[in-house]
Amino acid sequence: MSDVAKRESGVPAPLAWDYAPAPEARDIVSFETRYGLYIGGEHVEPRSGEWYATISPANEEHLAEVATARAEDVDVAVQAAREAFENGWSALRPAERAKYLFRIARILLERSREFAVAESLNSGKPIKESRDVDLPISAAHFFYYAGWADKLEYAFPNRRPRPVGVTGQIIPWNFPLLMLAWKIAPALACGNTVVLKPSHTTPLTALLFTEVCRQAEVPPGVVNIVTGDGQTGAELVRHPDVDKIAFTGSTEVGKEIQRAIAGTSKRLTLELGGKAANIVFDDAALDQAVEGIINGIYFNQGEVCCAGSRLLVQESIYEQLIVKLKRRMETLRVGDPLDKNTDIGAINSREQLEKIAELVASGEEEGAEIFQPSCALPERGFWFRPTVFTNVAQSYRIAQEEIFGPVLSVLTFRTPEEAVEKANNTAYGLSAGVWTEKGSRILWMAERLRAGVVWANTFNRFDPASPFGGYKESGFGREGGRHGLEPYLRFD
Ligand code: NDP
Repeated sequence: MSDVAKRESGVPAPLAWDYAPAPEARDIVSFETRYGLYIGGEHVEPRSGEWYATISPANEEHLAEVATARAEDVDVAVQAAREAFENGWSALRPAERAKYLFRIARILLERSREFAVAESLNSGKPIKESRDVDLPISAAHFFYYAGWADKLEYAFPNRRPRPVGVTGQIIPWNFPLLMLAWKIAPALACGNTVVLKPSHTTPLTALLFTEVCRQAEVPPGVVNIVTGDGQTGAELVRHPDVDKIAFTGSTEVGKEIQRAIAGTSKRLTLELGGKAANIVFDDAALDQAVEGIINGIYFNQGEVCCAGSRLLVQESIYEQLIVKLKRRMETLRVGDPLDKNTDIGAINSREQLEKIAELVASGEEEGAEIFQPSCALPERGFWFRPTVFTNVAQSYRIAQEEIFGPVLSVLTFRTPEEAVEKANNTAYGLSAGVWTEKGSRILWMAERLRAGVVWANTFNRFDPASPFGGYKESGFGREGGRHGLEPYLRFD
């Protein structure tokens, strides 16, 4: 019955209503009490003798103990990867290599509910995202690169593509399994072997992935997983027998890695931070744009390198758009990551929460106007309300620095030229979004925006066939597509 019909019929319209809880069953995942390192196809105790606890950021529940790899452990893992590379994997018929990747992709799909629950538990992201985004795209990456494994000669004609060797891969905590897939799939497709280090806060899906490797009968040593902290990553970077480093994470650590390998023959790709502009013109479909803005900044709690964290709105529609945006923010549901109705889950760690809070405080101090919806937050765990700042000057820290949380800064512009100038006024250059009904304007903008990806009338869309990567302090090298093969091949 519509509200009007209810009023006319004398039945009062409901003042407020809530979604009933819709929790995803958690018992589909059972974690081991302790996880060793995955080296040479075996789970082994760390030589370091060090272990740490990994928790759920939503309620600080202890999930499992995980090994910390130190120099000696990293060395054993690199040796295992070297042996596997020399003794078969690199010389395997490419169509045979592809079979393993296809198997991994299929097993990931078969076990996708289990992986989605594990990912949400360990990272805090909403189950609807891990289920509908992280898992399908991870599997799609393996399917996609399986298809390339026996077509490298066609991808790079007359260039004799060959694998580079042992690759060291270091990934962050915002998309733990997806980043693993982005790294491992092209590396294996090209005939390399891998030592991968997940982030210390989110090791569990990488450790579950070791079971997938065993199920798919991936030969021992082709994939090795060394858990630990930043120091573990640094040991991997330093190891003399690693041929290539692929890193996703902060610009600061990216620069450190660059310095560490300077003067060596190691190859490097870096996928670093971002401060993307999401640009809305006055001819855009506004309700659609509001959905795009919400998805751009609140997807994965804003813990996304390509998040649309700077909203640039054409002045003539500013008031109208902000009203719509705030109204939509009031409907966002923040809470239990395992609830299928949750839009915004937990912040990944206490450190990250503190970093977000510090930057938000700086925004208020510098004079921006803050708005947060009235939603209640759970008592335990790490939570931050979706936040929007208006009255933001370009010089404010919240307009310049990557916050990596659910915080949007709004700026305005009058002309397309001004929009481009403001959008490009950042040290980063990973992504951008343009909302307009004019195709010609989209092309005009895309040509001028210094960003690796430009989305038009959408945001945060990912496809394995589409290359992804940055300019300036967002790093170099591309992942995805045919371009994503190149860093894993040599042509000399
Ligand atoms: P980091 O860059 O520190 O972490 C990324 C990965 O690198 C993790 O596996 C980390 O290990 C590892 N690492 C840390 N130090 C070193 C080192 N010296 N050598 C080699 N590897 C290392 O990101 P944080 O987790 O500290 O996040 C900090 C900020 O970085 C965020 O607030 C956000 O702004 C940005 N960030 C950007 C990401 C992106 O996708 N571009 C992803 C994550 C963060 P460990 O986690 O175990 O310390």
